[in-house]
Amino acid sequence: MHLTDKFGRAITDLRISITDRCNYKCVYCRTGNEGALYGDLPFADYFRMVRVLVGMGITKVRLTGGEPLLRKGVVEFVRELAKLRPQGLKPRSFSAASSKQSLDSLEQLDIALTTNGHLLADMAQPLKDAGLTRVTVSMDAVDPERFARITRVADGYDHVLAGIRAARSAGLGPVKVNCVLMRGFNEEQIVPFGKFAREEGVTVRFIEFMPLEEGRTWSPTTVVPLDEILTRMAEYRPLVEIPHARSETARRYRFDDGIGEIGIIAPVSHPFCGHCSRIRITSDGKIRTCLFSVWDHDLHAQMRRGASDEELEDFIYGVVQKKEERHHIGEPDFVPASRTMVHIGG
Ligand code: SAM
Repeated sequence: MHLTDKFGRAITDLRISITDRCNYKCVYCRTGNEGALYGDLPFADYFRMVRVLVGMGITKVRLTGGEPLLRKGVVEFVRELAKLRPQGLKPRSFSAASSKQSLDSLEQLDIALTTNGHLLADMAQPLKDAGLTRVTVSMDAVDPERFARITRVADGYDHVLAGIRAARSAGLGPVKVNCVLMRGFNEEQIVPFGKFAREEGVTVRFIEFMPLEEGRTWSPTTVVPLDEILTRMAEYRPLVEIPHARSETARRYRFDDGIGEIGIIAPVSHPFCGHCSRIRITSDGKIRTCLFSVWDHDLHAQMRRGASDEELEDFIYGVVQKKEERHHIGEPDFVPASRTMVHIGG
C-alpha cells in the first residue's frame, strides 16, 4: 500500500518528534515560560510507527522536537532506523570478497535531524557512525548577543557554532543552517548569514516566520518575505538561482562566484502546499497531516489497543486521505493550528 493523498500527492517524507522538551525558548516559537508538555513515548513505539510507514513508501525520516538531542538513547534509535530499507529497494547481490563495499552501497533510508545544535558538538560523530545522513541546525543570528536575545539562552552561540563545525568534520554535510527571520529581531542578519555561508561551508536557509508560536504574536508585518531577503542579499553579492525539485521546500541560490549557497523557505509569501510530501508524528504519537491542522490523529492509541501492523496501515491510509489541500495563512478564514511548533515538531 503506497501513500498518496486524495490530491495525488505522494507522501514520502516523515517528521517525527521524539520529545517536546526544549532547552531553548526562541522568541518566534515559545514564550519565556516553561509551558505545558504533552510528553514522549518509548523509542520502541516510534520505531514501530516508522517501520510501518517505511513499508508504505516513506523514504525520508527527520527526527525533530522539542529538542531531539535532549532525548537519551537517540544515537541507538538512529542505529535501529538505519537498518530499515525503503520499500522497493532490494539489497544488491554481492560477493563475500567485496561484501563490505557492497553493504555500504545498499540503498539507505534517509535519516535527518533538526536540532538547535547546543549538544551537537559531542554527538555529531556518534550520530554519523550510527547512520544519520543529514543534519539541519537552527541558528537565528551570527552575533552572540543577538543570538542570546532570540533564544533566551546566554551561552548558546559558541556551543552551536562548535556543533555546526563538528557536524561538518563528521561528514554530515552539506550542513544546513536554518534561520527564522522575524521583523525587528534579526532581519539585519541576512547579509552576515550570507558571509557565514561562504566562510563556514554551510547552506544557510532563511525561513519566513509562520503563525505557530506559543505567544500568538504573528501578524503579516512580522514576516520578512522572500523578495526582501533576495534584495538585501543581492546588495551584498549577486545571486544565481539553482534549479530545484518541485517537492523541495527551499528555493536555492548560489553566489555569482560559486562560493556559498543560500536557500529561502517561503511558506507565507510563496506557499508550496501543492507539492507537499510530508506528514508528521508528534512526540505523543499523533499524526498531523499539515503544520496548520486543527486536529490530529491518535496513532499511538491504535497501538495501545493492540492493532496489528495491517490495521495501523489502514488507519494511516485513512488519515492521509484527510490531508489538507493547503494552509490559509493570512486569509480571513485562517484558524490557528491546534498545537504550536514546539509541540508539533518542525
Ligand atoms: N529544537 C530543534 C531546532 O531548534 O531545530 C527542532 C525543533 S524546532 C521547532 C524546528 C524548526 O522549526 C526550527 O528550525 C525552528 O527555527 C522552526 N520554527 C519554530 N517556530 C517557527 C515559526 N513560528 N515559524 C517558522 N519556523 C519556526
